Amino acid sequence: MITVSARETLPHVHTEEREKDPLCYVENGLAKRKKWETMGESVAEAQEITEDNNMEKKPQDGRKAPPHREVPPVVGLLLAVALMNALLYLCLDRFFISPRRAPGRCPYGYFRMGQMKNCSPWLSCEELRTEVRQLRRVGEGAVKRVFLSEWKEHKVALSRLTSLELKDDFLHGLQMLKSLQSQHVVTLLGYCEEDNTVLTEYHPLGALSNLEETLNLSKYQNVNTWQHRLQLAIDYVSIIRYLHHSPLGTLVMCDSSDLRKTLSQYLLTRNFSIVVNDLDALPLLNRSSGALVKCGHRELHGDFVAPEQLWPYGEDMPFRDDLMPSYDEKIDIWKIPDITSFLLGHVEGSDMVRFHLFDIHKACKSQAPEERPTAQDVLDTYQKVWNLLRDTMISQTREML
Ligand code: ADP
Ligand code: MG
Ligand code: MG
Repeated sequence: MITVSARETLPHVHTEEREKDPLCYVENGLAKRKKWETMGESVAEAQEITEDNNMEKKPQDGRKAPPHREVPPVVGLLLAVALMNALLYLCLDRFFISPRRAPGRCPYGYFRMGQMKNCSPWLSCEELRTEVRQLRRVGEGAVKRVFLSEWKEHKVALSRLTSLELKDDFLHGLQMLKSLQSQHVVTLLGYCEEDNTVLTEYHPLGALSNLEETLNLSKYQNVNTWQHRLQLAIDYVSIIRYLHHSPLGTLVMCDSSDLRKTLSQYLLTRNFSIVVNDLDALPLLNRSSGALVKCGHRELHGDFVAPEQLWPYGEDMPFRDDLMPSYDEKIDIWKIPDITSFLLGHVEGSDMVRFHLFDIHKACKSQAPEERPTAQDVLDTYQKVWNLLRDTMISQTREML
C-alpha cells in the first residue's frame, strides 16, 4: 500500500503529444460571413469596374454593339451574398472548430513558453537567484507560497516551500512536474532544491477555483458559453485520464478532499484550457503488486470524497490510520460529476449539457469503485456529447441560412 507521503525515485519520461481541437463557434462563422459579405461587395464592385473597362473596348468592326443592359448593383450584391452563404453552408463544420495546434514540445530538461522560438534549459539555482525578480504573492496552499515574478520580461510564477516539514511533498511535486511535462501540466521553467524553489509559467487567470469570477468579467462574456465550459470539462477529464495512464503508471490526484481544494490544483490558461499545477499529493498505484493508495493520514468527511475514502467502521470506533482501508484511482472518477457541474456553471445551455451527461455521471457515482467507468470512458462520452451538440448547432444554423 502506498500513501501520499511515500516517495519514489522515478525515471524521466518524454512528454505525450496530443493535439487538441480548439473552439471556433458558429458566431465566428457568422463573423467570417460578415467579412465575406464585405468581400462580396468588393467582388461585385470589381466586376462592375471590369465591365466598365470592357465597355470602353467597343467593337471596332463597325457592327453595332448590342445595347448594354445595366445590372442594378443590388442584384450583384445579392448574388455575391448568396454565393457566400452557399460557401458558408458547405464549410460550416470547418468554422465550428478550427485546429489549435500546439507547437512541438521541448525535450526533457528544456522549456518553451509564450512567444519563445527555441527551447531553453531549465533554470539553475544560480540563474533563479540572479535572473528572477519576485514581484507579489498570488497564491498560497499548504506546501507552497506562490509569487508573480519576472524573468527576462516574461511573467513567471516562483513557488517557495512554506515549511521545511513539508519538504518531502514539495520534492515529490517537483519530481512529478519534471516527469509529467506535457500539454496537461504547467510548464516547468527551473528549480532549486537547495533553496526550495520551483519556477513555472505564470497563468494570469489563476486557479480554476476563480473560474466564475473570471467568466463574469465583461471582457470574457464571449467565452462564458456552454461550449467553452464543456470544453473545460473535457480538458479536466483529459487531465485525469492522463494521470491514470501517465508515463509513470497510474497516479491518483489525492489533493482533492473538497471541491475548492481540488479546483485550486488546476490553472486556467489564457486560451481557456486547463493545466494541472499542484502534483505534490500524487501517489503511484501498483495494481499488480496490490499497492493501493491512501490520501493522507487523517479521517475524511462529506460526500465530495468517494465513499471508500470514508472511515468504514462507524462512529463508535475511533478513526485509526492503520486500520483505514486503501483504495484506487476510481476515487477521481467519483469526483468528476461535481467538478464538471462546477465547470458547466449556470449559463444558457448548461442544463442541456447536464442532461446529456446524466447517465455517465450516474455511473461515476456508483458506490462500488469497480462499477465506475474509467476516465477514458468518461472522456469518450463527453466527446460524443460535444460532437452531437455541435452537429445539432451546425444543422440549426444551416436551417437559419
Ligand atoms: P500548494 O502546493 O501549497 O497547494 P499550489 O501549487 O496549489 O500550492 O499553488 C497555490 C496557489 O497559487 C494556486 O491555487 C494558484 O492560485 C496559485 N498559483 C500556483 N501556481 C501558479 C501559476 N503558475 N500561475 C498563477 N497562479 C499560480
Ligand atoms: Mg495546491
Ligand atoms: Mg500542494
